[in-house]
Amino acid sequence: MKHNHTNYHSHCNFCDGRGAMEDFVKAAIACGMTAYGITSHTTFPMPPVKSLQPHTYGKYFEEFARLRALYGGQIELYVGLEIDYLDEVRNPRMPFYATLPTDYTIGGVHFVANERGEWMCTDGSFERFRDAAQECFGGDIRRIVDLFYTKSRLLVQCGNFDILAHPDKIALNASQFEPGILQEAWYEELAYNHINSLRNGDFLVEVNTKALEQHNRIFPGVEWLPLVRKLGLKLVVNSDCHDVDKIESGRYETLRLLQDAGINKVWELHAGRWGEYEIKL
Ligand SMILES: [Zn+2]
Ligand SMILES: [Zn+2]
Repeated sequence: MKHNHTNYHSHCNFCDGRGAMEDFVKAAIACGMTAYGITSHTTFPMPPVKSLQPHTYGKYFEEFARLRALYGGQIELYVGLEIDYLDEVRNPRMPFYATLPTDYTIGGVHFVANERGEWMCTDGSFERFRDAAQECFGGDIRRIVDLFYTKSRLLVQCGNFDILAHPDKIALNASQFEPGILQEAWYEELAYNHINSLRNGDFLVEVNTKALEQHNRIFPGVEWLPLVRKLGLKLVVNSDCHDVDKIESGRYETLRLLQDAGINKVWELHAGRWGEYEIKL
């Protein structure tokens, strides 16, 4: 059995994942995972990206309960939500979320709005990002990055979630939009201030492996791991998979990167309790 073989951040066709919830559970069992969590996106502010809708939350939790009853003897299954910080009202403190039977929640930023109130998704494919950056912000990448980190700061201040998702996710699309941007002093300052602020948070911090295979980047980026180590952040390694064949994508390479940076423990959820586990490769 592989150690540290868990994933607590995943999507399926209740949101923008490609495949039924059951297919992801079966794939997790097939590759020998010990614990797996499903965390669909809460309602997005705009189409076309699919997210949970007011009338689908019930079905989402019903389907999860069915799968836990069916497969719970083979793998620990958990259900959560990836909740966006959109504004002062739509964020992880929304009373609605507290009424739902989640095992934990993930807080994240995926959207920023321009002064006309038009939303832009900062995540997803670069082509969509590039077009939206032109349409909504006239290509002002610095403004978009600034808004992303402002929203990220508001998310941290808001709290009321268990795991902070992909702290510097904007790095991938921003660096494709403008190569070299991550080395600019103003960018480094924004990212540093954000990661440094996580030390005060009452939550775990995700190390997101989603883009490692294709883009050679984890979130937070390897350049921030010395700071992450110094701050002693409580880390959870997740694949944030949207495809059944990607549920452990980048996982072991990322654990190795953590070890190389002198980080030897990660957090895992077992038997309903979060705890710290040695990285054993
Ligand atoms: Zn996310
Ligand atoms: Zn996600």
